[in-house]
Amino acid sequence: MQNTKDGLRRATHIFEAAVWHYAVLVTCRCGHSAKFHAASLWWRFERKGWNDSFRDATRHFWCRQCAARIGRRVQPLRLETVAWEKGVIELEMPDEREWKRAMRRFRT
Ligand SMILES: [Zn+2]
Repeated sequence: MQNTKDGLRRATHIFEAAVWHYAVLVTCRCGHSAKFHAASLWWRFERKGWNDSFRDATRHFWCRQCAARIGRRVQPLRLETVAWEKGVIELEMPDEREWKRAMRRFRT
C-alpha cells in the first residue's frame, strides 16, 4: 500500500478500494475509461469467483469503444483507485451479510 500524490491510498485489489470507499478507474489504451463503484464491482468479481487484484482483473474488462471501432475485445491497460464521485457506474451491490463476511476475512 502506498500513498499517491493526491493523498489517496493506493489499493492493489478491488476489495481494498471498496473498504476505503473509493471508485475504480478502468483505462484503455485508446483513452476511453470508466469509473465503477468499488463495492459493487467487487461483488461481481466475488460472485464469479474472479481474482480481484488489479493486475488480474484487467482480463475481465473490454473496451466498448475499441470493440465498436475494430470489432475486437481489447482489455484495458490498468485499474486504479480514484476518489468516489457522483455518476460512477454502480452494479448490483452486495447484501449486508456478504459484505460483513468479506470484511472479516479482510481483517484477519
Ligand atoms: Zn479502447
